[in-house]
Amino acid sequence: MMNDFEKQIAAKSGDGLQSQKIETMQVNLGLQCNQQCNHCHLGASPDGKEMMEWPVMELVLQACKRARCQLVDLTGGAPELNPNFRRFVIALCREGHRVQVRTNLTVLLEPGMERMPEFLREHQVRLVASMPCYLEENVCAQRGPGVYEKSVAVIKRLNVLGYGCDPFLLLNLVYNPGGPFLPPPQSALEEEYRRELGQRFGIRFTHLLTITNMPLGRFRTELARQDKEEDYLQLLRKSFNPQTVDGLMCRRQLSVGWDGTLFDCDFNLALGLPVNHGAPDHIQSFKFEGLEIRRIVTGEHCFGCTAGSGSSCGGALV
Ligand code: SF4
Ligand code: SF4
Repeated sequence: MMNDFEKQIAAKSGDGLQSQKIETMQVNLGLQCNQQCNHCHLGASPDGKEMMEWPVMELVLQACKRARCQLVDLTGGAPELNPNFRRFVIALCREGHRVQVRTNLTVLLEPGMERMPEFLREHQVRLVASMPCYLEENVCAQRGPGVYEKSVAVIKRLNVLGYGCDPFLLLNLVYNPGGPFLPPPQSALEEEYRRELGQRFGIRFTHLLTITNMPLGRFRTELARQDKEEDYLQLLRKSFNPQTVDGLMCRRQLSVGWDGTLFDCDFNLALGLPVNHGAPDHIQSFKFEGLEIRRIVTGEHCFGCTAGSGSSCGGALV
């Protein structure tokens, strides 16, 4: 039986949501994080014990090679905290994969990370960095006291190394709304960020990505606490934009959890919904033929990706 999201998709395509290829492999290296943000859909924290181990990374390497992934996107938690992070990045680069890291910035100030920015530059790792506003009060409200100041300091250091300035050293910043509303238009907000961060700190970055808050994890708990859960779900549903469907990230990527379980996306990972409909659901049984074209597991949270201009790990979709 189709859920409400699938019915919307079927109205256009006549069927449920299908993937088209595996251009990107997104790999969750663990749920440990030096921060504990109140919008985190994974509930990551400094107490997180879940961590991808090297044997699973070896299987991911084989799968990426088989799928000829254009991009391997490392996420967490804070992926840099995985003890095998550097070894994994080196191995991926040796295989010719382009590597991207989703960094929270502040982790680069933690003990043991002193040379990490240089390591990332050396391997031309692309960076996607959370910076949910150019104003201190909004960043600290979502991500904790002191996070804004530290984030600015790290971006400045990355700029000195060429990140955000050199066309081969991408530094994309990520905005997400400070409450239960949709992001403003991405290109206009990017100009605002560029002006404000440039004037205040001389900061440079490549692009701004706007991401809709998914009704999951700590954000959903907070919505429920404020009795705004139902209103937010309604907003996402009524903002369904069919033009976003072609660009949904799950159609061109596969997500690997820290224990090797396969998911259609990081949000399904947060919900514990592995790939299904007959596709292999663990990296140990990875089969390119069974995963490239697969029926995607969906739910009401998917309306978060199709609302307004759409949302993905790569920002707005239209
Ligand atoms: S949102 Fe990112 S930085 Fe914040 S707790 Fe979650 S994983 Fe860590
Ligand atoms: S939540 Fe995941 S499965 Fe659902 S539409 Fe978004 S990317 Fe696709």
